Amino acid sequence: MALYPFILFKNRQASTHQAIIRHELIHFRQQLELLILPFYIIYLLNYLVNLIIYLNHDKAYRNIVFEREAYRNDQDTTYLNRRKPFAWLRYF
Ligand SMILES: [Zn+2]
Repeated sequence: MALYPFILFKNRQASTHQAIIRHELIHFRQQLELLILPFYIIYLLNYLVNLIIYLNHDKAYRNIVFEREAYRNDQDTTYLNRRKPFAWLRYF
């Protein structure tokens, strides 16, 4: 979980997994672009709207725009270098 400026891990092994780190770094970029607090507001609102649409926690979570961008690109080792600002807007 990315809580700027920290990344919190469930266990030590997770902290060594590059895709998880990349996923959370994508969230850092998103949070900085939105000056932190609006990120959480949009995140929560997007989750609640998705919950109404999907009636399923996992689908609602996975379809939050910030998660779509992060999951779509966390395996890509070059993504953070070539990512454009506000790239998450393309995932609405
Ligand atoms: Zn995430």
